Amino acid sequence: MSFNTLGLSEPLLRAVQKKGYTTPSPIQEKAIPPILEKKDVLASAQTGTGKTAGFTLPVLQLLSQGQQLRKRPVRALVLTPTRELAAQILDNVRAYSEFLDVRSMVIFGGVNAKPQIRGLRNGVDLLVATPGRLLDLHSQKALSLSKIEVLVLDEADRMLDMGFQRDINKILGLLPERRQNLLFSATFSKEIKKLANGILHHPVSVEA
Ligand code: AMP
Repeated sequence: MSFNTLGLSEPLLRAVQKKGYTTPSPIQEKAIPPILEKKDVLASAQTGTGKTAGFTLPVLQLLSQGQQLRKRPVRALVLTPTRELAAQILDNVRAYSEFLDVRSMVIFGGVNAKPQIRGLRNGVDLLVATPGRLLDLHSQKALSLSKIEVLVLDEADRMLDMGFQRDINKILGLLPERRQNLLFSATFSKEIKKLANGILHHPVSVEA
């Protein structure tokens, strides 16, 4: 199996090559094609399986193919439980989008919000965020969520463990109803299944 057969565009393949990856991991092989087809995906994947590239690569491709809006409102939102994970995902996004015209940014709590607010003003296509800071900046009108086309919930089980259920529900209420949803989780408790059922439409299920 090679990356060339997954339907990824040349700028993404170049970035993957630069990273030194030769073959897609199982989760990448299974998740990338349905995401490119704009399907909802429910993915069972632990850290270390290559899951981040599994959603980042196809989401970047969809963003670069899609229509660029004048003010560059956020079109893809990646929600993640911790600032460390958020920062790590942004690093991946930046590496994979090196040869694309896609702007990305990360916001998380525990640090000064002002630089984040300034950054958002410049326009961001893909935003990685922890739930609390996202709601905080949204309530300050620092960003709009009305043009979101793709929502990614990464490490959804950890988000629930950390008590983000209510924040997630609030965020869902701020998003357009018509959108693509991707949910990644290492474990599938009753609570996660309920969350997934409430968010995903006819999802394709994939496992690492
Ligand atoms: P993740 O599970 O997304 O945290 O990724 C785990 C590690 O695997 C990261 O250091 C990635 O850079 C690396 N990785 C992701 N995809 C591949 C791949 N196809 N081949 C080799 N390494 C990869």
